[in-house]
Amino acid sequence: MFKKIVCAAILTIFLAACSNVPITGRTQLSLISQQQIVDLSDAQYSEFIANNPPLKNSDAEMVKRVGAKISKAVEEFMIKQGRQYQLSGFDWEFNLVNNKEKNAWALPGGKVVVYSGILPIAGEEDGIATIMGHEIAHVVANHGNERMSQELLLKYGYATLQEVFGENPGLAKSVFLEVYGVGSSLGMLKYSRTHEYEADRLGIIFTAMAGYDPRKSLEFWERMSADSTAAVPEFLSTHPSSISRISRIKESMPEFMGYYSK
Ligand SMILES: [Zn+2]
Repeated sequence: MFKKIVCAAILTIFLAACSNVPITGRTQLSLISQQQIVDLSDAQYSEFIANNPPLKNSDAEMVKRVGAKISKAVEEFMIKQGRQYQLSGFDWEFNLVNNKEKNAWALPGGKVVVYSGILPIAGEEDGIATIMGHEIAHVVANHGNERMSQELLLKYGYATLQEVFGENPGLAKSVFLEVYGVGSSLGMLKYSRTHEYEADRLGIIFTAMAGYDPRKSLEFWERMSADSTAAVPEFLSTHPSSISRISRIKESMPEFMGYYSK
């Protein structure tokens, strides 16, 4: 309720202040235009890729194959829901880079990067699908825009926000860098617990739509939970705890299996 009031108040300042998340229907703040956030992402991504040349081996091929399957399922779903505008400006890319960290991330605009360090714990293709589904879900659910919008509100408040945007066109970029990181720390995102649970749920639904068994996703999270060295951002953030994450996935398994059987 509070969020709806906030959204209504901000609507008087910005035209497209709020949106809602596919499947969950949760209302979210969305102050930055899709085009602006995709442009910022693409610029940072190009820089990252120039410094971290993607691998070209069979694992890299698998990452591309899995990404293509999930993104196709997502696009079909979004078109059916009349939400294709939420993917406007997207140009998907799926790359594996040589980095020992157990991490993966995705940027608005559909650029998905998997670090080679996460491969051993991912196991087979289903595990990679779980990881990439989770990251793609953050992007499809517009979590980056929401994080940036929250930062902006926190810093400037509603009253001055319009003024600040008008006077400082570089503001969106500085908040983007704050939320997403830059250079070698790109992808060290600070998502909330709400975002993590939502990305878990949507991610498994998207992978199920792409033909991956949701029960394998559960196995992946259990492996992750058992790995005591797995606590690094973004992908392996310590919150929510892997135990509460796993119990939520178990609870939602009937819903996930419904998408899988279709
Ligand atoms: Zn996440």
